[in-house]
Amino acid sequence: QAKAAGGNRLRFFDDAVQAAVNRQVRLEADLRRALQRDELRLFYQVQVDEDGEVSGREALLRWAHPQQGMVSPGEFIPLAEETGLIVPIGRWVVETACRRLAAWTRDPALADQAISVNVSPVQFSEGTFVSELREILAATGAPPRRLVLEVTESLLMQNPECVSQRLSELRELGVRLALDDFGTGYSSLNYLKRLSLHELKIDASFVAGIPFEPADMAIVDTTLTLANRLGLEVTAEGVETEEQHRWLQARGCRRFQGFLFGRPEPLA
Ligand code: C2E
Ligand code: MG
Ligand code: MG
Ligand code: MG
Repeated sequence: QAKAAGGNRLRFFDDAVQAAVNRQVRLEADLRRALQRDELRLFYQVQVDEDGEVSGREALLRWAHPQQGMVSPGEFIPLAEETGLIVPIGRWVVETACRRLAAWTRDPALADQAISVNVSPVQFSEGTFVSELREILAATGAPPRRLVLEVTESLLMQNPECVSQRLSELRELGVRLALDDFGTGYSSLNYLKRLSLHELKIDASFVAGIPFEPADMAIVDTTLTLANRLGLEVTAEGVETEEQHRWLQARGCRRFQGFLFGRPEPLA
């Protein structure tokens, strides 16, 4: 009896693994066509300043899959990175955001708002990344200083000389550079000193610990002090409660992003 049940459990497990594998294989084939079929969407999540005014928006990629509905980036970005598809997909993200920025320059209510885009290390490491960005900025007429490129600490694990050189080229283009998910990767504080960054984004996992987890609060507090001393702007990510907002404000944080202010949503 027990043996039969164990066998069923095993078969169930095998079936579940097989289904997951099939889904991956399917997704990969579908992702190759997603761009041509115009299935990618940018959602935007507001970032607010100390007065509660919207100062910018982060563009967050969604895939409107014909059968599976909205697929989240957590599911298909790793796949896109493994297959190299992140390069054309990432280019589309930058182009789409730049077209949006260019349109905003004609609207006085939006003209000073920024758009942040996430740049994958794979995309960043392509030899043509900077020249393509320069072309996109020129072709769309987007003001470079309104474009923020979010990179992660994992990027800094690659050839540091190369990365540092490229960040300087980007800075010369006039775009702004943010270090995303700060504190969750392996970067050394030495990079903060050397790299041409404008902004740190405090990862949501630390903000989630406010105001109950002393370790998270210590990390956030120290990051805010460090960033202020280094002349870097800071955005707190994943702000969900008034209490977190007040706590962060009291410690000198001046920019916030999270469900408290708005979810990622499509723009009209
Ligand atoms: P991220 O860049 O750190 O983006 C923030 C993530 O936190 C987003 O998840 C956002 O929806 C979520 N979030 C925002 N506010 C809150 C909150 O108050 N509470 C909680 N629990 N979550 C919040 P999303 O949209 O699923 O994106 C996940 C990650 O996928 C992003 O993390 C980014 O690393 C990556 N990603 C998204 N779009 C792109 C893209 O165009 N290119 C690349 N390379 N990566 C992207
Ligand atoms: Mg981001
Ligand atoms: Mg982040
Ligand atoms: Mg993240």
